[in-house]
Amino acid sequence: MAEGYCFKCKAKREIAEPAEELMKNGRKAIKGKCPTCGAVMFKILGGKVAGPPAAPASTPVAPVQAPAASVPAPAPTSTSAPPPLPPTA
Ligand SMILES: [Zn+2]
Repeated sequence: MAEGYCFKCKAKREIAEPAEELMKNGRKAIKGKCPTCGAVMFKILGGKVAGPPAAPASTPVAPVQAPAASVPAPAPTSTSAPPPLPPTA
C-alpha cells in the first residue's frame, strides 16, 4: 500500500494504480493516481525522504517583519555645485 499526497485534494490518499519508477538520480518513486480525483500522484521512495511536502500546521509561524526603512533620504543640497544644464539654443 502506498500513500501519497494529492495536491488537488490537498489530502493524503492511497495511490491508485501504483507503479514503481526509477528516477534519474537513482531513487525509486511511485507514480500513480489519486483514487478520488484522478490526479497524478508521485511519491519518492528511498534515499533521504524529507516527509510529506506539506508539513502539518503545528509549527509556530514567526512574524515576518520588513526591514526598517531608517535610511534617510539624501538631501538635495546643491547650493555650491549646481547640476550642469544642457545648452539651450
Ligand atoms: Zn485527489
